Amino acid sequence: MIGDKINILGVKVDMVNIQEAADRIMEFFEEDKLHKVYTPNSEIIMAAYKDERFRDMLNDAELLTADGIGVVYASRILKKPIDERAAGYDIACEVLDRIKGTDKSVYLFGSKPGVAELAREKLIEKYPGLRIAGTHNGYFKPEDEPAIVEEINATGADLLFVCLGAPKQEEWLSRNAKDLKVRVAMGIGGSLDVFAGTAERAPEFYCKHGLEWFYRLMKEPWRAKRMLALPKFGATVLLKGRKFTKEEQ
Ligand code: UDP
Repeated sequence: MIGDKINILGVKVDMVNIQEAADRIMEFFEEDKLHKVYTPNSEIIMAAYKDERFRDMLNDAELLTADGIGVVYASRILKKPIDERAAGYDIACEVLDRIKGTDKSVYLFGSKPGVAELAREKLIEKYPGLRIAGTHNGYFKPEDEPAIVEEINATGADLLFVCLGAPKQEEWLSRNAKDLKVRVAMGIGGSLDVFAGTAERAPEFYCKHGLEWFYRLMKEPWRAKRMLALPKFGATVLLKGRKFTKEEQ
């Protein structure tokens, strides 16, 4: 059912797949206000479970999708299964494909200096006719923020990718939402690095079988500690998850 949500440890995740998330975003373009889109994974939901302020920030989004197999499993544990993960990167690809050749434009904000520019070149090759309104790297001083917002607004962009990693991107958007003129802003972590080719995504085999975490662990073993969050998340959903789903009824 469109508009259906599942409450996972206090975070109200939309039960949508990639196509449905993109459909929703295309509708957002028609409404003259900012729509925030976040794609929490299990680590982010755990952080939100422990921090009410961050939880409210996530729940304030107009669309929250399940990024990561951990969230999909959690939905199964809670007996309200989400079909598939709807990762930020995949939704972004689908939306770019739909807006290429139209008058809608995207602004690329985040990642290390030079990455967004490289991503711009690669995206124009991948999506001929795509309008890229501008780019800005993600390393700035707090006092630069108003100028960045002004620059984004001045380009007249419709869509904004905020790629600062979580929770920085959600905090940035929550701070600046009232001043932004874009219609859709998506917090999509390391996606610009993938678009630029400076970081690789796991091969399809790993993504399809819910093993992206394993691929990442092999490539970036220093993430091992962060990954311990996954079994902890599973245990918390098993032990406390029901309380939240009941609250919803
Ligand atoms: N980043 C940034 N500004 C910062 C910190 C991080 O632009 O102050 C960028 C970083 O360069 C990378 C992205 O944010 O491109 C975070 O990627 P990561 O894969 O760690 O985030 P995740 O997708 O796991 O949230």
